[in-house]
Amino acid sequence: MKIIIIGAGVGGLATYHAIRKHLPSATVEIYDAHPSPLQSDKIIGGGISVGPNGQRTMATIAPSALSSIRDHGFEFSTFAFTNQDGKLLGEFPFGSKERYKYGQIMTTRSMVNKALLLEDGEMDGKVHWNLKVTRVWETDDAAWAQFEDGTAQKCDLLIGADGARSQTRNALFGEEYKPYYNGLTGLGGFIPLSCFTPFTRDALQNATTGSIAMGRVGGFGYSLLEPLNSSTQKLNWFSHAEIDEVLPSDTPRIDLMPLLMDRHGSWKSKYDDPNDPEKTLFRQIITIACEGKEDNNWLLLPRFYTPLLPHWTSIHGLSKEGSESKIQTSQGGGRIMLVGDSAHAMPPEGAQGVSCAVEDGLTLALLLKHYLPQDSSESQQDEAIAKAAKSYEDIRMPRVNKILVTAKGKADRKRQIGWLQDKIREISVWVISWIPESFMHDEIFGYDVEVHVAKYLGVSQDSL
Ligand SMILES: Cc1cc2nc3c(=O)[nH]c(=O)nc-3n(C[C@H](O)[C@H](O)[C@H](O)COP(=O)(O)OP(=O)(O)OC[C@H]3O[C@@H](n4cnc5c(N)ncnc54)[C@H](O)[C@@H]3O)c2cc1C
Repeated sequence: MKIIIIGAGVGGLATYHAIRKHLPSATVEIYDAHPSPLQSDKIIGGGISVGPNGQRTMATIAPSALSSIRDHGFEFSTFAFTNQDGKLLGEFPFGSKERYKYGQIMTTRSMVNKALLLEDGEMDGKVHWNLKVTRVWETDDAAWAQFEDGTAQKCDLLIGADGARSQTRNALFGEEYKPYYNGLTGLGGFIPLSCFTPFTRDALQNATTGSIAMGRVGGFGYSLLEPLNSSTQKLNWFSHAEIDEVLPSDTPRIDLMPLLMDRHGSWKSKYDDPNDPEKTLFRQIITIACEGKEDNNWLLLPRFYTPLLPHWTSIHGLSKEGSESKIQTSQGGGRIMLVGDSAHAMPPEGAQGVSCAVEDGLTLALLLKHYLPQDSSESQQDEAIAKAAKSYEDIRMPRVNKILVTAKGKADRKRQIGWLQDKIREISVWVISWIPESFMHDEIFGYDVEVHVAKYLGVSQDSL
């Protein structure tokens, strides 16, 4: 079986490893529009937190990548919530090692991508970099990808892991579910601890939790980025602002300083330097970031959402763009499937985008393995692909849509609010901080792909 994966982000790379493990006889080609992160200094994304469920999934398909991510990241299990005056409102459990075997890991997006690329010695060479897909379509006996240079590749199964602005998704829906900017722009980056005043640096060095300060204009989060006691420790900071239009990514950072100072310049925290009232933590972060020494560079990440998709595979039909005859159809062979953000563009709230993408990849690989008989004929293979497509949607869509709806709800609460709403939120945070971790998180962080796939198929986990 020949499989093409479009996109070498975390979803595409995890799906690759899952297929290599469970369908070793398949030929897998990956295409990505950008250069390899191993060959480029360009920053890909900011900080990213990988949840216990994502790590549990990675452990089965890319164990050395997981070790590398864990060795280089900051492991934590709670977020301390404060108000803008620095008062602690409560500590939220956010995935403890004791309960889930893996705590949350904060690291860089590049670190996750690079670790997955290095999992299998030759992996980088297996990705066709700098090749942008411009159209995907399905015929009776194949799926096709066309590239910017006019060439096309044929395969038995095409997996779209090409992110929130997926080209593959157009084969299923055309422009109908195209992403839209939701008016919130994420701001964030990394600052070496050595850039802070000695008091702030020493206090941050020992911070064992993530922190989120909340005010009427939104939140401002920060955490360490490397293991405690790392000599190159950095602070990962993240915020967001309601900005009407998508700002160009090269907007001079200094131009954003008034906006950030206006929103957070008066906020307080326990890391404020008592020696100088101007050197509060937030003022230091904003000044260092906006005055922009090269290694303090930071990102503008406008948030693009897609509406919930009604399905994720082509068994339900193809758009005009996705059908060979350019006529919309209501039935397809399931040879085109979406994983990760192409199926469910995940906002950062809840930090589940990486974990859901990795779970998608493993689920798909296990289902293909289950339905494909050894030495299968072409018709058996077609049938197996269609069955896997249906089961994939049955297993994944209810779980991911629930996570997505919750995350979008949390994101909407980050817009500006009034005094009363702020007070109600402060009380809610305090109340929620007393809810046991098991009640809050078992469904998401305790998830085990193999258990759920085996249950759905009615087989024992050992037989997968
Ligand atoms: C501000 C922000 C913060 C976030 N923080 C977190 C967090 O802390 N934890 C978490 O779990 N999730 C977080 N997320 C969500 C997470 O980043 C995504 O869910 C995750 O990256 C999805 O991975 P993916 O592989 O599906 O897509 P992507 O990572 O977007 O990868 C898509 C790949 O496809 C390639 N591609 C795109 N189009 C084409 C094309 N036409 N042809 C060829 N290749 C193409 C791209 O180059 C890219 O390599 C955050 C998201 C945002 C916006």
